[in-house]
Parts: sequence; structure tokens; C-alpha cells
Amino acid sequence: MDKVLIIDDSLMQAEYLQSILKDDYETKICHTAADGLDLAGSGSYSLILLDVILPDMDGFKLLKIFKEMPLTKHVPVILITGLSDIQHEEKGLLLGAVDYITKPFSPIIIKARVGNHIRMHHYRMQFMQQAMIDELTGIPNRRCYEEERHAKWRMATRLKLPFSICMFDIDHFKLYNDTYGHPAGDKVISTLAKTVSFHLRRSTDFFARYGGEEFIALLIGNNAASCFEFLKKIRQSVEELHIPHNSPISQWVTVSAGGVTLVPKNEDIYDDYLKLADSMLYEAKRLGRNRVLWCDEKKEWLQEKAGE
Ligand code: GH3
Ligand code: MG
Ligand code: MG
Repeated sequence: MDKVLIIDDSLMQAEYLQSILKDDYETKICHTAADGLDLAGSGSYSLILLDVILPDMDGFKLLKIFKEMPLTKHVPVILITGLSDIQHEEKGLLLGAVDYITKPFSPIIIKARVGNHIRMHHYRMQFMQQAMIDELTGIPNRRCYEEERHAKWRMATRLKLPFSICMFDIDHFKLYNDTYGHPAGDKVISTLAKTVSFHLRRSTDFFARYGGEEFIALLIGNNAASCFEFLKKIRQSVEELHIPHNSPISQWVTVSAGGVTLVPKNEDIYDDYLKLADSMLYEAKRLGRNRVLWCDEKKEWLQEKAGE
């Protein structure tokens, strides 16, 4: 059952709304903006009904916060208010409310509007989810990565946790396509994505197709040495798939990986470390491919020799 949050300082009004909706939705009531923020932050509501006048914060301000917070920015908010002038309605809609209902309202209209907005919310979420998944491999795509990386980086910075970026690239893949054909190449990309995903399955791990035959992983919590060991295992598991290849370095399909681990500070810039991970990958290629090359915060290298 969809969950609807009712934020209204009037007990009577909130209970009236709840009585209208309770047969179709799981409803929750709160009477202050602070409680509203807390509850909505749990991320599980399909719609929020928000009274504009609250004791501790202007409802417009709260709406603005909802539209900025990652967990609530996609949740439709309907403003319910006694302020019936056009200026207030315009302000609410411009701030991102999906609808504006003035008091007194009819229960039938409330039911109908809430129903419509929840249906549209589901379509939107489904569409967004599809737009975030790479069609060939079924793992997150580049667009999803661009969204996720901010949240992961912020989380590691706030909690002062080690954060790692790892870039992967299939070795001599142009040659693979030339030898076995593009559809066979597609299969390799997809198998490789499955194999690596199997290893990166902690809730804090993130793995995406970066583009073509390149992938990116973001990890939180492990230090440089343990990431390096972990990635060596992943690299090895790709080699051990024993997908035949006729490359200058191996009879099997192999990958190279380059990564960096740091505990990000507020002044650090994500892109600097992405570039560093990319240059580690470049070096791994230059040193002979089928290997992992890692860099810690002091810019010291951890390197694997092929066949180790
Ligand atoms: P290196 O070891 O230096 O990475 O050599 P490489 O041949 O893998 O590198 P390069 O970047 O020159 O070639 C990448 C190749 O990956 C070229 C392209 O045909 C292939 N490729 C990229 N995307 C796809 C895809 O979606 N499917 C298939 N089958 N091939 C792809
Ligand atoms: Mg490449
Ligand atoms: Mg390649």
C-alpha cells in the first residue's frame, strides 16, 4: 500500500484528511515541520500533503527543502492551505508542488487528486529507473553513476571514511571484436559486468558501465591495501572465466584496473581523484595490461605484476 504523509498543525484538519485517505493508503500524521522532515527523510512516502502554515516553519520553506533533499526531491507534494490568492498558489507551484488545494475542500477531489499524483509518481519512478540502467548489461549506466557519485563522495566526506574510485577497461578489446565479431564482444561485456557485480555487492558498493568497454566502481570503507587485494581478486576472476581471446598478452579475455583510495576532506575535488584513477588505469595498460594498479593517499603505488 502506498504511504501518504500528512503534515498539518491542526489536529482536526489532519485527522479529517486521514479519514478521507485511510482506506486507500497507509497514512501518517505529523504536526510540525521538524517531524515532517524527519519522517519524509525515511524516503518511503509516495506523496506528501503539506499545510502551508506550520508553527515552526513556513510550509513553502519546507517544500523547498523537500525538493532539494535527494530522498524527498522526487516525492510529489500537494499544498493544502487557506491562502487562496493567486500569488501564493503560484509560489507553491514554482517551488515544485504538484498541486495546490485550498480549504475548504471536497473529500472526493482530495481522493481523486491524490490518486492521480501517486499514479504519475509511479510512472515517473519507473521511467527514471529504466533511464538509469544500461540496456546491455543490466547494471547502472553512466547517467546513474553521475547521480550516485555525488552522494557517495558526500557520505564518505561526512563520515570520514576511505573512499575508492576504480576504473576498469577490457584489454585488447578492439582485437576481440575484430576476431570474434561485435555480438560476441557484447556478450563479453555483459558477462564481465555480471562477474564484477557479483563481487561488488555490499550496499555501499557501486558499479556502473562507464561507456563502451569501460566500467567504474566506487567503494566506501576499505583502505587502499584491502581495495587493492579485493580488485586483484576481481581481476583474477575475470581471467578465470577463460573466455578465449587471441590477444598479445593472454589466451583469455582480461581486464586492467586502476584505482585510488583516500579519505576525502571538504576541500578535495572528486574529479582530481577520478583523473588519478584513470591515470592508474593508463599505467596498468602501459605496464603490460591484465593487472591492477592502485594509489593511496600519499600517492604511493600498489602494483600487481601479471601472472602474480
Ligand atoms: P586496450 O587494451 O588498450 O584497452 O585496447 P582496446 O582495443 O581495448 O582499446 P580501444 O579503446 O582502442 O578499443 C576499445 C574497443 O571496444 C573499441 C570498440 O570496438 C569496443 N567497444 C566499445 N563498446 C563496445 C560495445 O558496446 N560492444 C562491443 N562489442 N564492443 C565495444
Ligand atoms: Mg577503452
Ligand atoms: Mg580496452
